[in-house]
Amino acid sequence: MTNSQARHWIGTSWKMNKTLPEAAEFAKRLLGVDIPGSVQPFVIPPFTALASVATILRDSGVLVGAQTMHWADQGSWTGEISAPMLVDAGAQLVELGHSERRQHFGETDHTVNLKVLSALRHGLIPLICIGEDHDERAWGVARATLERQIRVALLGVRPDEAHRVVLAYEPVWAIGETGRPAPADLVAQTHRDIRRILVDMGTGFAGLRILYGGSVSPDNAPDYLDSPDVGGLFVGRSAWNVDGYQSILRAGAPS
Ligand code: PEP
Repeated sequence: MTNSQARHWIGTSWKMNKTLPEAAEFAKRLLGVDIPGSVQPFVIPPFTALASVATILRDSGVLVGAQTMHWADQGSWTGEISAPMLVDAGAQLVELGHSERRQHFGETDHTVNLKVLSALRHGLIPLICIGEDHDERAWGVARATLERQIRVALLGVRPDEAHRVVLAYEPVWAIGETGRPAPADLVAQTHRDIRRILVDMGTGFAGLRILYGGSVSPDNAPDYLDSPDVGGLFVGRSAWNVDGYQSILRAGAPS
């Protein structure tokens, strides 16, 4: 169950980090954190820890997700995991199209679309990552890139089911150890641009939640959350320990 009162969703993907004991320790400590009622928290462990983290966080209000999946329900796809398997393991959400998957593992707008449709069919919330790279911003085609990524990812999604989709705007140049945090005014402007694209796509799409991700920290989180179109934060490194995550969750409390 999602928190329908949540003004912000704030969550973290652990990427390829945390052993089973480390994941369990994080999840158990998170149970003791006072999470603002205006925030919907979520954590995205590696596949190996998904079921155990989902068990620990069951009924806690924290959503648990996976970092990717295959679009088919089953079959000869060595090494892959399907939507029914994620549901079976206790996932409620699935991250799709992260730039590291696009860059290193051949994810395309087309495969993201196939996965979005499968996630919706199986009752998973698709958290779709979009974002321009450094050159696309420098060349003035960032908006065009975002529009293509959004429109292709959502091909075939019915207006009456679109509200289940969440977008995460993650400029590639802002992510990870080599990233630099995007200025808050650029994030606010880009979220307005994304909102216009969604409004153009029609009823059902116009109100989609859009998170920001890319070098978010406890210090810059409040600035990003100030923008009315920013519906939350998607965090990597700064939330890999519970104290860091807790500080960012607090930024989502009404001031
Ligand atoms: C990410 O990789 O999606 C991300 C937001 O990472 P970080 O916060 O570490 O930049």
